[in-house]
Amino acid sequence: MHEFALAEAVIRSALEFAEQGGIARITKLVVRIGELQTIAREVFDYALKEIMPASEPRLAGVQIVLETEPARFRCRPCAREFTLAETSGPKDTDESEAMHFIPELAHACLRCPRCQSPDFEMLAGRGVSIASIEGE
Ligand SMILES: [Zn+2]
Repeated sequence: MHEFALAEAVIRSALEFAEQGGIARITKLVVRIGELQTIAREVFDYALKEIMPASEPRLAGVQIVLETEPARFRCRPCAREFTLAETSGPKDTDESEAMHFIPELAHACLRCPRCQSPDFEMLAGRGVSIASIEGE
């Protein structure tokens, strides 16, 4: 039900934004999902594209696009910024799979590619946000 709640929150913000911007009908909505956001994409996609627009006239015929926001990290000791692909691990599929479900695991699995420190902050790659809204 997590995905439905998220989809509902996205739609609610989109409608609020449309209202403030004087948009009567949303034609296109781009939603960004963090690479490490814990979410069942198919369910979220379905909730967003099939269920929500069905009960909301302002979303009739809306085109919904899902984008992935790549995860970005910054090492605390050396200030190097890096992506998931640049880290020294995990290359193991099971671990990286698990990390997508439990983003906190990133700290246990990942190391800074420059100084190998496990002490870093996550700058991007979590959460769901609205990237853009088009309407008329
Ligand atoms: Zn570092």
